[in-house]
Amino acid sequence: MMSSDRSSKTILVAGGAGFVGSHLCDALLAQGHSVICLDSFQTGSRRNVQALDNHPRFSLVEADICESFDPRVHIDQIYNLACPASPPHYQADPVRTMMTSVLGTGNLLHLAERHGAQFLQASTSEVYGDPQQHPQREDYWGNVNCTGPRACYDEGKRAAETLCFDMLRADRVDARVVRIFNTYGPRMSPDDGRIVSNLIVQALRGAPLTIYGSGEQTRSFCYVSDLVSGLIALMNVNPNPGMPVNIGNPGEFTIAELADLVLEMTGSASKLVYRPLPVDDPQRRRPDITRAKELLGWEPRLPLHEGLAMTIPYFAELLRRKPLKGSG
Ligand code: NAD
Ligand code: UDP
Repeated sequence: MMSSDRSSKTILVAGGAGFVGSHLCDALLAQGHSVICLDSFQTGSRRNVQALDNHPRFSLVEADICESFDPRVHIDQIYNLACPASPPHYQADPVRTMMTSVLGTGNLLHLAERHGAQFLQASTSEVYGDPQQHPQREDYWGNVNCTGPRACYDEGKRAAETLCFDMLRADRVDARVVRIFNTYGPRMSPDDGRIVSNLIVQALRGAPLTIYGSGEQTRSFCYVSDLVSGLIALMNVNPNPGMPVNIGNPGEFTIAELADLVLEMTGSASKLVYRPLPVDDPQRRRPDITRAKELLGWEPRLPLHEGLAMTIPYFAELLRRKPLKGSG
């Protein structure tokens, strides 16, 4: 295994035109690195990285990670964020989702091996499924329905983790795995379908807020800048921890509490409407972040209300410019 000690690195961000990926590109460029953003634009958009168009250390490649790809320049690090993350998007073409995580991650790991590059895989709290342990620690093996509609995502990410740790154990790739818990912030697509963007867009439009199930299920919401600092810390920590690391905000809220907070912060008079709970929807989710604290010295800085205060104006501006036909 080789890895470069040069302080200014060439970094490939797969999925770099997505919500999280575009913030990661910004942060890496701000640290002085060169960034190659690779994206198929399945769920991401050129708009997310438009401000970087003329940046001398930024390049954008339209490609699918399921196809082979090898840039002519030497790559020092690869972040693999390429995968649709919102349930309606990843379930729209479940076979493609599974192949993206398995074949696509395999392709990028082989690329990392050829370049001697460090590799960071964006895994997910979904590997814990509908968890029977609460909060979730990394040594919990999870409770995933491997044949249900979420499996294309959950099992794809679990298989991608397996590939990473097998490549690491074989001393072929310096691979790291982060398990990301629900993250939100500016640049989420307004039609992304996840809870924070749905509720804010609905509240701002005066449309009913869609609550799936009773609204008593919980999630823990991390602001995107906190996640990005965790990703960079895990990629660069030495030695490689050799085990997955949860990154998320342990503040746990019911969906009903989140809806109340969004109504209060937007000043919206929208009502709540109740819809059926999606199949296999996890009831509770909260990260145990002891490992991230100990190994990376990382913990989130922004509580939910502060993160929402920075996210709501983003959607308000988006809606002012381009009123949406529908949401949710
Ligand atoms: P996103 O949908 O905004 O970003 C995903 C990006 O990957 C998009 O730009 C999309 O076009 C691109 N992509 C998808 N399939 C591709 C392929 N085959 N080849 C190339 N590009 C492809 O989602 P996000 O919220 O930014 O999530 C980023 C990563 O973090 C994903 O891997 C996701 O699974 C993981 N994650 C996110 C969260 C979260 O709450 N945001 C939680 C857990 C895990
Ligand atoms: N959810 C909801 N209304 C929406 C979108 C989502 O009540 O308009 C619920 C969803 O059923 C889940 C929670 O909010 O219980 C978080 O959903 P999201 O899709 O954001 O993330 P995930 O389920 O992948 O954690």
